[in-house]
Amino acid sequence: MSSVTCQMSSASCIFCQIVKKEIPKDFVYEDSEIVAFEDIHPVAPVHILIIPKRHIESVNELQKEDRELAGNMILAAKGLARKLKISQDGYKLLFRTGKHGGQEVEHLHLHLIGGAKLYEEIRPI
Ligand code: AMP
Ligand code: ZN
Repeated sequence: MSSVTCQMSSASCIFCQIVKKEIPKDFVYEDSEIVAFEDIHPVAPVHILIIPKRHIESVNELQKEDRELAGNMILAAKGLARKLKISQDGYKLLFRTGKHGGQEVEHLHLHLIGGAKLYEEIRPI
């Protein structure tokens, strides 16, 4: 198994605490390697975070051996979008990475955002 453990111990990582159920959270999806739950500060009617159970800091730390995991995160998002009936109108998938990407939680997570027409924050420079 490729294991990229960041400097931060998983004990102090809020998403690791959620995975270990040290922080109570309803999972909207779970399998052997992934969990998903609602974002605590939703920016749209549907706002879900899909995360690996294993602590990986960000996309920067993803290894070739993690490609199945990364693909499965996207497929989990697709399945949730269908389940929540937002597939047809569409949605946004977002991996924030690092300082310039605006990443606040240093445990890899994929945002699934939808249920309304989304404001596009990325503009031509
Ligand atoms: P990012 O800016 O991409 O790192 O996004 C981190 C996201 O995690 C934000 O949208 C937060 O609202 C969300 N978040 C932080 N803590 C929690 C929590 N305890 N439960 C659910 N979502 C959380
Ligand atoms: Zn973590």
